[in-house]
Amino acid sequence: MLVVTTRSPSTISCVVPCFNEAANLQVLVPALMAVLKTLADRYEIILVDDGSRDHTVQALTPLLQAHPQLVMIELSRNFGKEAALSAGLAAAKGQVIITMDADLQHPPALLPKMLERWSEGVQMVYAVRATRRDESWAKRMGTRFFYKLMRTSGGPSLPENAGDFRLMDRVVVDALLMLPERNRFMKGLFAWVGFRAEPLAYEPPERLHGRSTFKPFKLFDFALDGLTAFTTWPLRMVSTLGMLISLMSFVYGAFIVIDYFVHGNEVQGWVTLITVILFFSGINLLSVGVLGEYVGRIFNEVKQRPVYLVQARRGQGLAKPTDSD
Ligand code: UDP
Ligand code: MG
Repeated sequence: MLVVTTRSPSTISCVVPCFNEAANLQVLVPALMAVLKTLADRYEIILVDDGSRDHTVQALTPLLQAHPQLVMIELSRNFGKEAALSAGLAAAKGQVIITMDADLQHPPALLPKMLERWSEGVQMVYAVRATRRDESWAKRMGTRFFYKLMRTSGGPSLPENAGDFRLMDRVVVDALLMLPERNRFMKGLFAWVGFRAEPLAYEPPERLHGRSTFKPFKLFDFALDGLTAFTTWPLRMVSTLGMLISLMSFVYGAFIVIDYFVHGNEVQGWVTLITVILFFSGINLLSVGVLGEYVGRIFNEVKQRPVYLVQARRGQGLAKPTDSD
């Protein structure tokens, strides 16, 4: 049965990055197939195995053999979620493309609603968490701060609380695939390409099986990646700080010289000396660090290494669903 919408897509691709998700996929894949077959004539589910160590691929073999519309792309090792998403998007052939997590925190039941928005002409529908209650206080504060920093970029603003659960039109995915950078900060790239994008609120359920792989330190890394990929204000900040401090030093220098001529050469100021040395060493290290972050990014980009490597691909994709689905 096809849901009646003003415009329904002929083909849908669903991209799911998977890292040690054997247990979750056993639940997600059947649920997803049940929803997708009501939405389009033909669909494919592209599972990108991001170097899992829990036999994700073996566990899925029976399903893969039974349903040719399931595709498994095995990456040669763990490249990270962003790379896995890129691999999946590159393989997706559908007119409408959906990206979602494997842990059922992105409920398939939301897909008809998202598609409805697409049929009204929205080119990218991104699911936005109505709450972050399931996350720790520290993570929530961290993310808040991160979005604040990102808003200073002057570029396209990142919608807050939007994750990688999205439905996109073909044109959006084609645009994403054209972006050549190695640093795939997807949240930023999604915002950068523009198009008609609209949010859709949802209540995220708990992760079904397993644990989230994102640790605080990794999140910090991730935030730095985003910041350096989309903003250059830290560089500007450092040079402004430098100018300000030079100005202050000049005034203080003048003061010392005048003091010398007025009061004679009295040896004193040890405290001042140490404070100034420590302060300037700190500022120096900070500036070199900021500069280094950007140089590091440049280094990674100029190496021109591929974002991911595919080891094997199984499944046919965009096949007609059979009655047994
Ligand atoms: N994931 C991946 N590669 C990784 C880490 C995670 O493909 O190196 C996938 C994971 O299987 C899941 C999604 O990315 O489908 C989100 O991961 P997770 O639930 O651990 O993150 P969170 O929901 O906490 O952001
Ligand atoms: Mg999750």
